[in-house]
Amino acid sequence: MLENDLGIDFQNTFAKDLEGLYKESSATSYPSAEVLLLNDNLALELGIDLKNLYSMNAFDIFSGNKRPVNSITLAQAYSGHQFGRFNPNLGDGRALLLGEVLNKRGELRDIQLKGSGPTPFSRRGDGKSALGPVLREYLLSESMHALGIPTTRALAVIKTGEQVERGSSLPGGLMTRVASSHIRIGTFEFASLQNDTKLIKKLADYSISRHFPETANVENPYLALFAAVCNQQASLVANWMSIGFIHGVMNTDNMSISGETIDYGPCAFMNTYNPQTVFSSIDTKGRYAYQNQPSILTWNLTRLAESLIELVHHKKDESIRLLTEVLQLIKPVYTNYWLVLMRSKIGLSKEDPTDYELIINLLNLMEKNKVDFTLCFRLLAKSLIGDSKPIRNIFKGCSEFNSWLMLWQERISQEGIPDEEISESMNNINPLYVPRNHNVEAALQAATKQNNMEPFKKLFSILQNPHKENDDLREYSTPLSGDDSSYKTFCGT
Ligand code: AMP
Ligand code: MG
Repeated sequence: MLENDLGIDFQNTFAKDLEGLYKESSATSYPSAEVLLLNDNLALELGIDLKNLYSMNAFDIFSGNKRPVNSITLAQAYSGHQFGRFNPNLGDGRALLLGEVLNKRGELRDIQLKGSGPTPFSRRGDGKSALGPVLREYLLSESMHALGIPTTRALAVIKTGEQVERGSSLPGGLMTRVASSHIRIGTFEFASLQNDTKLIKKLADYSISRHFPETANVENPYLALFAAVCNQQASLVANWMSIGFIHGVMNTDNMSISGETIDYGPCAFMNTYNPQTVFSSIDTKGRYAYQNQPSILTWNLTRLAESLIELVHHKKDESIRLLTEVLQLIKPVYTNYWLVLMRSKIGLSKEDPTDYELIINLLNLMEKNKVDFTLCFRLLAKSLIGDSKPIRNIFKGCSEFNSWLMLWQERISQEGIPDEEISESMNNINPLYVPRNHNVEAALQAATKQNNMEPFKKLFSILQNPHKENDDLREYSTPLSGDDSSYKTFCGT
């Protein structure tokens, strides 16, 4: 074990292998910092002893006051298409990679500080984070993990003891983020912009060995890498759609090639089902609305394809042809993931050619009747165990829905599985508790305005068991009465 440390061995593979894609930098220290949250479960997965997690050394590392032994701290370079416009020079403006560690399963995990002060990529920013958005990311990313959806994780939250200026003066926060890597589509865009084939090749090779080792030995590894990223991201977006999650800022610098959800800025869960839902205050044209996420997926992956042209084939035309072939598969691959998820959400395990239509018809009726996305699937499950009143109620007695319900029940009966079992399996897939906007808001207000972490901790613990119904927690499973379409989220960096 390493002395004076978290007891884990920091590796510096990014630093060693990818020179040209980062700048070394150091964290700002926060002498008045205090710990707000530590994630025991994640620490254990990373092989961090709880004794070490709660040690003074860990606190010093998480608050930027101490560089861990053996760690080369760096800010990664990346570009990005932000709301469709290319920005060549982004990079970690307020984050610092401490290095990678091997988790209990032998997988490399990045440990990154977010809100750790200025870096060479800070441009005009202060390199810091407000506490509210840091707590929001902690809550939402850990909730996403509990929902079984690939995501970056949150290991610690520190209150820096400093104020940051974001229009008004707000308490500062610092998060320790854990990710299977922080390589984004934007990292490839940056590398390809440098007119240095060796650099983009190094990045692609590193990505292959870290994320998709199975593609290393095929005929065209770089094309296979592209296909693998397309596959992971298509699966991710299908998962988002299946739980009513709106990422809110799907810029190419916010899409991880590992297929993890990253950058919990303005994201939010939809209450009433409306495919046009947008919560982000800066997304005035609705580019990243719920219903646009699948097409943005393809748009973003097209930017990745452009960055890989020189690697895939020495003849540009042939390279474009090969990449285009893969791009054309994204939509059917995505649709297939989506269909599998949606089918299981309505309790079907057997495939039938009419499933797609059955699901689309349900969604159309949900939209028309302004039905709560999350509750709908739980109430459908309930109807299978003898209580169909609540589901009929939320569709306000709509006769078209009653016809749909009969069709669905007929389809369910063809499964040849007892209704109780199907109902139970639906409840294991469809969450009852998601981070609803009003609950998240209330928890963050209490934490940042009243120094009261209790509502946050209660909500956090509820969201750790999103499927198991608890009668005492009814208020957390329901939307606020009325419509939250005017609810706004802020990047809040
Ligand atoms: P994000 O909106 O978090 O995806 O950030 C977009 C870009 O802006 C990234 O390059 C960030 O590092 C940078 N950025 C965001 N906030 C700050 C800040 N307070 N100081 C410096 N850079 C920032
Ligand atoms: Mg970002």
